[in-house]
Order: sequence, then C-alpha cells, then structure tokens
Amino acid sequence: MKLYNTLSKQVEEFVPNEKGKVKMYTCGPTVYHYAHIGNLRTYIFEDILEKTLEYIGYDVKRVMNITDVGHMTSDSDSGEDKMLKGALREHKTVYEIADFYTKAFMEDIQKLNIKVPSIVEKASDHIDVYIKMIETLLEKGYAYEASGNIYFDVTKVPNYYELSGKNPDDLMVGVREDVEEDKAKRNPADFGLWFTTSKFENQVMRWDSPWGVGYPGWHIECSGISYQYLGEYLDIHCGGVDNIFPHHTNEIAQSEGFVGHKWCNYWCHGEHLNDSSGKMSKSKGEFLTLSLLESKGYDPIIYRLFCLNSHYRSQLVFRYEAMDDTKKAYQKLISKIKSIRESADGEIEYDRAKEYQEQFRNALENDLNTANAITTLYDVLKSDCNGATKLYLIQSFDTVLSLNLLQEEEVDTELKSYIENMIEKRNEAKKNKDYALADQIRNELLEKNIELKDTREGTLYVMKQS
Ligand code: AMP
Ligand code: ZN
Repeated sequence: MKLYNTLSKQVEEFVPNEKGKVKMYTCGPTVYHYAHIGNLRTYIFEDILEKTLEYIGYDVKRVMNITDVGHMTSDSDSGEDKMLKGALREHKTVYEIADFYTKAFMEDIQKLNIKVPSIVEKASDHIDVYIKMIETLLEKGYAYEASGNIYFDVTKVPNYYELSGKNPDDLMVGVREDVEEDKAKRNPADFGLWFTTSKFENQVMRWDSPWGVGYPGWHIECSGISYQYLGEYLDIHCGGVDNIFPHHTNEIAQSEGFVGHKWCNYWCHGEHLNDSSGKMSKSKGEFLTLSLLESKGYDPIIYRLFCLNSHYRSQLVFRYEAMDDTKKAYQKLISKIKSIRESADGEIEYDRAKEYQEQFRNALENDLNTANAITTLYDVLKSDCNGATKLYLIQSFDTVLSLNLLQEEEVDTELKSYIENMIEKRNEAKKNKDYALADQIRNELLEKNIELKDTREGTLYVMKQS
C-alpha cells in the first residue's frame, strides 16, 4: 500500500509498526454546528482509507475524538471558543450544543455510509489524561507557566516545523492580528496546554487542575485520546490539510515530548472542498450541509460518489451541476447493476474475478486512487464475465466504496432482517452438516424469489423477478 506522507512529502510504502495491524487516529468534529460538506469530504477520505486497509487484510483500530471544549476560532489560542459561540448563538448550554451536534454528525456519517470508528471519545471526558501529560511536559521542560496558563515552548523541539514545512520566520502564522495575544508567552508560536485565565469568565466547562481551575487547549485532547487508546506508537494520523498547522504540528510536539520518541509514522491529509466563492464557510453564504443537499433531492450517496470521483489530495470545487451529472451517472450505474441482479446466472469464476479484484486493489493501494477503483467497477460491468461473477465483484468492491450498489430499494428492513436471519440459520445448519435443513432454507427463500449465492466471503442474496 502506497500512501502520501505529509511528514516526508512523498508517496511511501506503508509499513505498520505491528505486522497486520494498523493504529489509526482521525481528528473528529468540533460539535458547535452542523458539519459542512467540506468537513464530510475529509471523513469520506478517512473512511476509504480505513476500508482499503481492511480490504487488503489489515486489522484496523481507529480512534476519533469529539471536540467539545477548547477549540478557538483561530485554531490557535486567540479568537472565540467555538463551543461558546454555538451556545450563545442558540441560547443553549455548551453541553446541549455538544449533544445535539454530536448526534447530527453521527446521522450525517451514517447517511454517507461512513463506518463509525471503533472508538469515539469526547474531549471533555479525558481531562485526567491531559493533566498527566501536561505534568510530564512541565517536568521535562517542554512546558512553562505564564500569567496563569500553561504553554508549550516550541523552541524546545528542533523538528517543530517538519510536518508543515513552514519556516520559523512564519511564527505569526495561525495567530490572528486582531486579537490580543498573551504577552507573557516566551515565543509567539507557543501554544496553550491549559488555560486558567483567557476567556475564562464565560467558560462553562471547567475542571480542577494542579494549576488552578481551567480548561485544556484544543491540541492536547488529540494527543491525550490517542495515547489513552492507541498507546505510544501510532501508524496513521489523518485530518484535513488545515489541520497540518498548527493542530497536527502541535500534537507532534506534545506527544513526542511526552513519550520521548517518534510517535506517528504516517500523516495523511485530505484536501479541501471549496464552494464557488472559495473557502467553505459555516457562517457566510449558503451553509452547505448534507441535509441541504437532501432537501434539494440529492441522496447523500451521490455526494459520496462525487467525492470518490476525484483524488483526496486534489482540491475540489462543489457545484450543483457536477452533482446533477453524478446523480445521472449513479442512476445509470444502479440500473445496470439491477439488470445484472435479475439475471445473475452461472457459477462465480474466481480466477476471472481475481484479475478485477487485483486491478481494484492496485488502484486503491496507489495512494487511494478511488477514481480508478470506480473505473474498475465499470470495466467489470462491461466485461464478458457471467452475472454471478459480476455480482460477486460488485459486492466485493462495495465493501470499500460503500455506494449501496446492491441495495434493493424494495427490500424493506423487515424483509432484510428475515433474509439475514435465514442465511445465519442456514450457515449454522451447514456447520452442523445438516444439509437437508440447509437446502430446505435455501428452497424456502427461493419460493419467495430470493436466491442465495455462496461466495468465499459469505452468502449473497439476489431478489429474482417474479
Ligand atoms: P472541525 O469540525 O472544524 O474541527 O473540522 C473537521 C474536519 O474537517 C477536520 O479534519 C478539518 O481538517 C476538515 N475540514 C475543514 N474544512 C474543510 C474543507 N473545506 N474541506 C475538507 N475538509 C475540511
Ligand atoms: Zn486532532
């Protein structure tokens, strides 16, 4: 598997720390508002990465945080606290805002067929971990106290600018000039680990600490949550390109200062989705959410396909015309697949299937070339493979693409769970060598025009035309 690594600025062969296993951390949403479809593009890219790794046989442990405290509008220590901004906007408490938008986020990712990471943790639930890390950083001389806050001294880290490729002369990057900076900081780029003063009077989320009642900075939460659930060594860390500096740069400084060695080997960043005016925004112009797209008649899966048609490292401009084209292409694709389903003849030809599976895998292993992976899908449809083989491949590819390629709209959830139940019973019967019962189940389904197809990876079902 080849991946572009922001750290080395090169496409590299991916080698995990532990054979066959991948530890992956993905920065989660700041739950002060709905996610815009730009944010969701980043989560789609991460989902494809996780599913590709699983497709090629890795066991992936993926963690995501939910930012409900500490994230300033500047991404640095200045500006307004995003959560407080949300609470003021809606006359609600920070906790209510966090709950509401966490649920909204989960709904969005579900609609986009993004797998929920195995571990999703709220920033506000891990204060003890941050305190422990900050204490160690103070002991080791990486952090210092100034005017009641604890800061990280970036000059203590020789490779501080390695990830971003920035120059120390760019020290003011990320620091907004219109906002008062804490003059007590040793260096302008030093960043906050724990605040007891700044904007404190409005801060509802506050905790006791050895340095007084306060709240953590944004960056320490990802270092803390990653350390808690994935330990001292991380294989892959992801986010959008805006996270490279200062967020991920600061995460590296803290985590490596704390653990005392290199922390994460591969840094993968998704490029932005922009609207026609330029930068995607939650406050200016049309606020592009997934629900807005739905209200305009675009199924969330169309948006997923729209994203997969381009490479995750290229900027993408959102246009409704492009969504219309994608919608048409998707409808055509689904109707082709439907006609294959209705005449899914023959036995699966595994040798032929393997060729296409390799082509598909090669595309994804080449730094997640999803557009080429989709081309492989079209190649399969055009090929002279028999129906059963095509169906098998479509199902196999869709474990990564997650485009509902085999979804039968007519199959209601009750019928679906009945079929899945029957398949399970049949598997059990086969395991017990009760082939009579297994056949009986198969025939019972066949009478209802549901045909089962056994594949190496499990059993598929096909709704036959009555
Ligand atoms: P936030 O909720 O602001 O913390 O951002 C959530 C994720 O969306 C982060 O990984 C960001 O890097 C990413 N992101 C922010 N803006 C965009 C955009 N316009 N396009 C793609 N990803 C974005
Ligand atoms: Zn993060």
